[in-house]
Amino acid sequence: MTNPDTGRRIAIIGGGLSGLAAAHRLIELSAKQSSRVEITLFEAGPRLGGIIGTQQIGDYLVDTGADSFLTNKPGAIGLCRRLGLENRLIATDSRYRGVHVLFDGRPVPVPEGFQLLSPSAIWPILTTPILSPWGKLRMLMEYFVPPGDVADESLADFVRRRFGRETLDRLVQPLIGGIYTSDPEKLSLAATMPRFLDMEREYGSLIRASRNEKNTKRAIASDTTSGGARYGLFAGLAGGMEELLAALRQRVEAGCTVRPGVRIQSLSKLDTSAGYGVVLADGTQELFDAIVVATTAHQAARLLGELDPALSSELDQIEYASSAIVVTAHKLANVRHPLNSFGLVVPHRERRRILATSFSSRKFPKRAPADSVLMRTFVGGAMQPELNDYEDASLKRIVRDELSDIFGIQGPPQFELVVRYPRAMPQYHVGHLDRVHRIESLTATHRGLALAGNAFRGVGIPDSIVSGEAAAETVFDAQTPFANVC
Ligand SMILES: Cc1cc2nc3c(=O)[nH]c(=O)nc-3n(C[C@H](O)[C@H](O)[C@H](O)COP(=O)(O)OP(=O)(O)OC[C@H]3O[C@@H](n4cnc5c(N)ncnc54)[C@H](O)[C@@H]3O)c2cc1C
Repeated sequence: MTNPDTGRRIAIIGGGLSGLAAAHRLIELSAKQSSRVEITLFEAGPRLGGIIGTQQIGDYLVDTGADSFLTNKPGAIGLCRRLGLENRLIATDSRYRGVHVLFDGRPVPVPEGFQLLSPSAIWPILTTPILSPWGKLRMLMEYFVPPGDVADESLADFVRRRFGRETLDRLVQPLIGGIYTSDPEKLSLAATMPRFLDMEREYGSLIRASRNEKNTKRAIASDTTSGGARYGLFAGLAGGMEELLAALRQRVEAGCTVRPGVRIQSLSKLDTSAGYGVVLADGTQELFDAIVVATTAHQAARLLGELDPALSSELDQIEYASSAIVVTAHKLANVRHPLNSFGLVVPHRERRRILATSFSSRKFPKRAPADSVLMRTFVGGAMQPELNDYEDASLKRIVRDELSDIFGIQGPPQFELVVRYPRAMPQYHVGHLDRVHRIESLTATHRGLALAGNAFRGVGIPDSIVSGEAAAETVFDAQTPFANVC
């Protein structure tokens, strides 16, 4: 297995962002420590990058999946810096900062300072038409609601308890739905947004905590070393997310063997040594000292079924939601609404057939010609799963009808593109953190095996990168007895 000429053999299964980040980190570590490591990256699909991608369609630059990442988590910003992409990072366009929410059929701005669950300013809450007078009062009474003592609570229960039902139904559910495509009645607050639990624990109230944090934020804003301060809360790449993939691919292809179009069937533990067998679709087996599995949890469950049935079963119980993005482009002259924000989120109670629409060319510059707008409309998700089964033509028609009704868009779009994401978004349901803990404990019993991906401790790009890098560090540090000899 360990090759005396090339050193330890490490396989990475899955060439999405997590797998690429793992490969890149292994290359960095082996260069830094002058270790000989032979790295092989297996990817089932024809290209590396997984669910992330960018397409140039005429004059439009379209991120077909993720289009931005959080800057207050270090994973993505840090990797971009190491890849020499710092001067390609772009901030969102401050002229349009903000989001609309659909209320009684029309787009209304989300009150300024409302941050996912909680208000940080009182006046915008008092003046918004989204909440009734009682809804506003109930929200502001949060100041006096005593902290709860539930270990793992659903996001919906938490918001109802602290802010009341109206805040949940009219603001929080659509905002959270836009990120996780999830049902807030099932989503674990501790697994998705532990910051709010910490705020409750520390200050007794989220409103009180927000007022306190405002001062801290002012300090952060004047700190030019903070990525968050320089780019705003979200950053994108001038040429789209493909730029991050291209830079990673270049490094990874130079430092390891990349095998696209190779789907791994299963993993086995070798009796004779501490290594692993990787079984390919044609039944052949290749041997490695260590393995990073960087696929979705349901794929990882399949791969590990024979090697560790208990681990496989835990992985299989992480639910996933499917969704689709319908990308459309329109002449601004054909749009009645000013589209003066980053997009629109749609509450379930509005009974529409779309979850959210992102105004891509408002969010980032140079995504569309000056007289046009590029939109990405999200459909399906955990709240409207039946739509995932619709044909492309039906989804296009639904999105045309909804956009026309909500924004007064006339005539057919310049182009339409449907991009599908089947079982791509993990759902962190109540109990998720306990399950992840069990998964991590079981994985740790297999020396030289590590899991990566967005199924465990964060669904976004920065989390995927961190998970890939951490998995690389785990397998790099786990020297097998055989490897030590060489
Ligand atoms: C619609 C949508 C929009 C999003 N928008 C954002 C956003 O704006 N910002 C943000 O931060 N995050 C966003 N995300 C999340 C982000 O895209 C993901 O966290 C990240 O891309 C996950 O990467 P990954 O490598 O873990 O998984 P994947 O991209 O799913 O990669 C897994 C790879 O493993 C391969 N594979 C699977 N099984 C096998 C096998 N048996 N053998 C070999 N290869 C295999 C697959 O082909 C795939 O390429 C979005 C997600 C979705 C679905």
